[in-house]
Amino acid sequence: MVPDAVKESQAETKPKVERQTNCLACNKLIKKLKRYYRNGKFYCSKKCWRVFVAKTKAESAEGKK
Ligand SMILES: [Zn+2]
Repeated sequence: MVPDAVKESQAETKPKVERQTNCLACNKLIKKLKRYYRNGKFYCSKKCWRVFVAKTKAESAEGKK
């Protein structure tokens, strides 16, 4: 007999496929019709894309110190 706990852990080994459904800047859910695609990532608007770009630039500048 297999204990129930073992069965459950086997069921959880499925690979998780995470799709990007939220905006990287404001973390809101992106609707298909309104999504804004740039450099392989999705944003809810052009404004959020620019916010994200500014944020990542600031972070990489700090890392280069
Ligand atoms: Zn956004």
